[in-house]
Amino acid sequence: MPAEVLHEASKAVKKFGSTGSSILELSHRSKEFMDIVEESKTLVKQLCGIGSDYDVLWMQGGGRLQFCMIPMNFLDAKGAAGYLDTGHWADEAQQYAANYGKADVLASSKKANYNHLPEWPKKVPASLSYLHITTNNTIYGTQWQTIGESGAPLVADMSSDIFSGKRDYTRYAMFYAAAQKNLGAAGNTLAVIRKDFLARAKNELPPMLSYKANVKENSILNTANVFGVYVSLLTLRWIKEKGIATIEKENKAKAKLLYDALDSSKVFTPHVKEKTHRSRMNVCFTTANAKQEKAFLEFCDARDITGIKGHRLAGGFRASLYNAIELSSVERLVAVMKEFEAQAV
Ligand code: PMP
Repeated sequence: MPAEVLHEASKAVKKFGSTGSSILELSHRSKEFMDIVEESKTLVKQLCGIGSDYDVLWMQGGGRLQFCMIPMNFLDAKGAAGYLDTGHWADEAQQYAANYGKADVLASSKKANYNHLPEWPKKVPASLSYLHITTNNTIYGTQWQTIGESGAPLVADMSSDIFSGKRDYTRYAMFYAAAQKNLGAAGNTLAVIRKDFLARAKNELPPMLSYKANVKENSILNTANVFGVYVSLLTLRWIKEKGIATIEKENKAKAKLLYDALDSSKVFTPHVKEKTHRSRMNVCFTTANAKQEKAFLEFCDARDITGIKGHRLAGGFRASLYNAIELSSVERLVAVMKEFEAQAV
């Protein structure tokens, strides 16, 4: 989280604006909260370069509720959806969808432990209800830098790379992001849906699981996550102030520094060899064996570097370089890696 956002959020916990109460006490039906919702929606649209043909929603239930709601709303009983299986979350999204209907895997790199992106399908037919992709694969460290053609409406999970750089958001019929990486605190989720796509959503759904009902109630169908939405608004203001172009430049510099160190290392190996498939958000790497892995973790721990252990499914190490991480932190990590390497070889 950016330090400025943490500072503002903690002030609001004590006293929010001129209300005399804490943000934690604010009614989700108050004018103040409606102002928060409206400003955040406007900022999302500005930062994405999208217009009034999109609806912006704040939701709860994280990425996984979107995995459920997308097929429930958009997967036609007689039709099929397409999924690109590029990592654990992409796979889970497909499996959730398969509970509701036909969810075809059009490409997968599972057999290679997701150490690269599969080839984009030659043809994504318009007959599919949608094509679901995961723009950044958080656990294995791959990221689509180029999005291929799709005849079907494109739906994207952007949970781990939204607002990390320039992107043509108008290509998407829908995109969503659990907030806990680049967009605020855990417990809040952004969903953005183009109106013509929303029109295709089923009507016969319980309201909480219906995008149409959530849009109709302007994100306050039930008691909203007031604090979570506010923290996301603060984060959006921070992104706007900094500018996406600057954020992208910094993210590129951070990733380059770390990948260059990995590519020239005799001790560490990057999980993703293909440079054009590498994530700028999650850099995954390994050492030669479990003993060396344990030694490096202890080495980092003693030097106040935390959160470097890889996801339990992938093992090894993962440096997550989300927007709020500063270049100096990556420089420090690289220096510690070099120090470890010097005493290890
Ligand atoms: N999608 C992606 C790309 C993720 O990285 C994650 C979690 N890290 C999820 C979905 C799942 O999100 P949640 O835990 O909020 O359900």
